Amino acid sequence: MSGRMRVDALVIGAGAGGLCAAARLAHHGRRTLLVESRDRVGGRASTVEEEGFLVNTGAIAIEHGGVLEDTFRLVGAPFDIRVPTPATMFRLKGRDVDISRGGWGVLVNGITRKGASLLGGMGRARGGEMPDSELSVKAWLDGHTRNRTLHAIFRNLCAAIFAVNSDEMPARAFLTYFIQKGAFRNFGFSPSGTLGLMRGLSDAVVGDGGEVWLESRVRALHVEGARVRSATVTRGGEDVEVDADVVISNAGPAATVALCGRDHFDAAYLARMDRDLRASANIVVNVASREPLLRAPGIVTFGITRRLCNMANLTATCPELAPPGWNLHVAYGVPVPAVGDFDEEAEVALTLEDLRDQITDFDARARILSVRVMRGDWPAQRSVAGLDLPRETTLANLWNVGDGVREYADGGVQACAESARLAVEEALALAGPRPSAVLT
Ligand SMILES: Cc1cc2nc3c(=O)[nH]c(=O)nc-3n(C[C@H](O)[C@H](O)[C@H](O)COP(=O)(O)OP(=O)(O)OC[C@H]3O[C@@H](n4cnc5c(N)ncnc54)[C@H](O)[C@@H]3O)c2cc1C
Repeated sequence: MSGRMRVDALVIGAGAGGLCAAARLAHHGRRTLLVESRDRVGGRASTVEEEGFLVNTGAIAIEHGGVLEDTFRLVGAPFDIRVPTPATMFRLKGRDVDISRGGWGVLVNGITRKGASLLGGMGRARGGEMPDSELSVKAWLDGHTRNRTLHAIFRNLCAAIFAVNSDEMPARAFLTYFIQKGAFRNFGFSPSGTLGLMRGLSDAVVGDGGEVWLESRVRALHVEGARVRSATVTRGGEDVEVDADVVISNAGPAATVALCGRDHFDAAYLARMDRDLRASANIVVNVASREPLLRAPGIVTFGITRRLCNMANLTATCPELAPPGWNLHVAYGVPVPAVGDFDEEAEVALTLEDLRDQITDFDARARILSVRVMRGDWPAQRSVAGLDLPRETTLANLWNVGDGVREYADGGVQACAESARLAVEEALALAGPRPSAVLT
């Protein structure tokens, strides 16, 4: 052991949830240490350079007008995104359709004249009449329509937002997200890549007196009397023992338990974690081209496909992401099954076949920069929407944040920001007023 230090708050991992938590804690005057094992912040909301293109590791569409933007404003970090208009289009029978004015009615009626039952079901959901919690999106939809295109659109929405197939998530969570919360209408792309945006939060941590340690890993959490007392952190090849009043983990609930040891958690918590926490997978294809491959400025969600669910031309709004004269697109596929084992090679091949179907002369016009399969420990999402674990753990001063512990039917980076807001609120309540505030 080569050192010891004390902080008010330790945050493990600088993904979206960890960054929002650390920035809020530092803003509230807590001496905060944010430890990240990678060489950059952002986790699955970050950016790497590939052949001169700024390619995102995960999140591209950043929702504005909610708790994520509120967090940036609160801590004084720049929220620099560019909003495509329209943000979302649906590709139906070869045409990209803008539903921003007519909503679900325009979408459903544009596909079939027999959409009344489905629109009725959606209307009832808006009024609070929800299907049973066990019913999947597919089973719920089967009760309203057999239309193939509608089934494909719903599957691709489940895939695009939640990285699952329509038989893998509860209809109640889907309807809560899209109908009751009206989520994912307002978003933009970051011209410096998602990393550029997330760096603003880590700068705010430092600006408010905290520290951010990159290429450093929390290796163990030491528990005493149902509280975390300290952490062993490896930094630059040396171990540092960090004493902390509160600990917020962005490593995912299973990794958090492993850092402490299962013995410190009660049986009900562990049983729920073992039963419910199932990561989902997706396939990311980063594509460069000289001419734009899409006409839409935002995200296109496809109709009938094998695996491909959506695609964006990021350079339509953010040309900075590509070298001059080039376009950068990203396309997503979701395997079958998305939760559980699948044949990676075959699933990637099906996603690429879809791209060839959807984009005219794809092979001649497009250059694939990279194909990434997000699964296992580095998944598309750490839990299936509707089945997230609670933020609180068995240990009084330990919380999780991120996409394993979202509020019911929340999604995306916005959900991670909300988990951080709530965890910090609870941590501040537990820790009480700042020592300096007590003195003055
Ligand atoms: C391909 C893809 C596309 C997506 N698109 C969108 C989108 O367009 N819009 C949207 O809103 N959402 C999108 N999402 C979802 C969103 O990106 C994720 O839900 C979100 O980024 C997850 O953040 P998180 O807070 O759970 O942290 P994570 O990203 O999981 O980060 C956790 C961090 O903790 C670090 N860490 C773990 N263990 C330790 C340790 N012991 N010590 C130190 N550090 C540690 C890791 O290195 C990592 O950086 C997408 C996801 C994927 C995969």
